[in-house]
Amino acid sequence: MFRDYIIYDVCIVGGSIAGNYLCYLLSKTNLKIIVIEEHEEIGLPFQCAGIISQKLSQLVDLPQELILNRVELAKIIAPSGRYIKLFGDEQPYIINRIGLDRLFYEKVKQNNNITYFFGERFKSFKYVKDGKQKLVLIETSKRKLKAKILVGCDGPLSLVAKSFGINNKNLFAVQIRIESDFPVNEAVMYFNPQWKELFGWIVPEGNKIYRIGLACLKNIARKFRIYLKKLNLDMQNKIDQQGGLIPYGLMNQIAFENVLLVGDSACQVKATTGGGIIMLLTAAKYAASCIQKCFKCNKFSKRIIKKYYETPCISAIGKELKIHYLIRAFLEKFSNNDFEKVFQIVKASKIEHLISIYGDMDFPKAVIFKILKNPLVFPFLIKFILKHPSILVKLLKTLFK
Ligand SMILES: Cc1cc2nc3c(=O)[nH]c(=O)nc-3n(C[C@H](O)[C@H](O)[C@H](O)COP(=O)(O)OP(=O)(O)OC[C@H]3O[C@@H](n4cnc5c(N)ncnc54)[C@H](O)[C@@H]3O)c2cc1C
Repeated sequence: MFRDYIIYDVCIVGGSIAGNYLCYLLSKTNLKIIVIEEHEEIGLPFQCAGIISQKLSQLVDLPQELILNRVELAKIIAPSGRYIKLFGDEQPYIINRIGLDRLFYEKVKQNNNITYFFGERFKSFKYVKDGKQKLVLIETSKRKLKAKILVGCDGPLSLVAKSFGINNKNLFAVQIRIESDFPVNEAVMYFNPQWKELFGWIVPEGNKIYRIGLACLKNIARKFRIYLKKLNLDMQNKIDQQGGLIPYGLMNQIAFENVLLVGDSACQVKATTGGGIIMLLTAAKYAASCIQKCFKCNKFSKRIIKKYYETPCISAIGKELKIHYLIRAFLEKFSNNDFEKVFQIVKASKIEHLISIYGDMDFPKAVIFKILKNPLVFPFLIKFILKHPSILVKLLKTLFK
């Protein structure tokens, strides 16, 4: 039976940070936008350590009240317990993540061109013809609608990405918030071969509250218990607990016929730290500009979306994400001895300030080149690669992908 569904210009799946920020950027146009969010409330459930480099305030107009604390030192702890402290001009923010998600929704919610459907799940889409134009017919848990552009901002388990055969490899993450007496401006990263795909973290939220978490590929509950035991916490002071998924890998293909992927759905996440926010905000800016260009020329082909979204995204963040991925590939193979050696090199060459983890490490290419120039680093790397020849294959495959 023929039915006429409402045609929207843009349908965004996911009303979290990527979806809301993209919607906000597009709210300055006259486009008719729909956002489909499966939860009833924006920002919940809370699933974030909330540590974000200062670049955040260069990308968005950040209200002061969303900044809960600042980090002055990053302490990196090796499996042996030895540690180095990294510092620099960069003093990452600890942010109120629920507030950040809501910030952009609050800015657009009165806009007549924008509709949010809460408690509604995107299920699938198919391509349909409307006269000469190709559209997407979207089915949600409550309705069917048509759109000229569909954007998957639906996170690590993205159904939009799955429609194109893309399945993210995800790490499991768990975090508690707890009152304790760790240093107030120090973020800690515990490396251990048991959770080699990321690390255990302590993030000072402020007011003596700490976000303590861990991410890894397997057996998260057991490993988290081990980690908490190491920290010797008084669990009576635990406030709450969160869990979530962190995509792990290289940025996905992100441009398709009438469709874009932004954020975790696109695996726009740093493999070194699991941080995605700076990357997705950067990507959303390109996505918004691409969408406007598509409407200007009334073309929504994969070629156009690739040209105006995927290609600039690869230049701006894709290449840096590759470096993060390669650093992680090295770290995954690190033995206790390798950590010791690297710590010795960092201390001997006084480069603690160079590796300002959350600053330069959003975009580490420049820092990596500086570090490689260090005469102590090169011999270590050569020996390491000879010991793990598979890493060379991964390096070449990744760089030329
Ligand atoms: C424990 C943890 C700690 C982290 N810490 C940091 C950190 O300190 N710094 C940092 O930069 N990053 C951190 N990250 C990563 C960061 O949280 C993500 O990169 C970011 O949330 C991705 O935003 P997004 O909008 O792409 O996806 P998400 O935040 O995952 O949002 C996806 C949205 O889509 C909705 N959705 C999904 N499927 C559907 C569907 N079928 N229909 C309708 N709606 C749907 C979901 O309900 C959700 O609202 C952390 C992640 C975790 C799990």
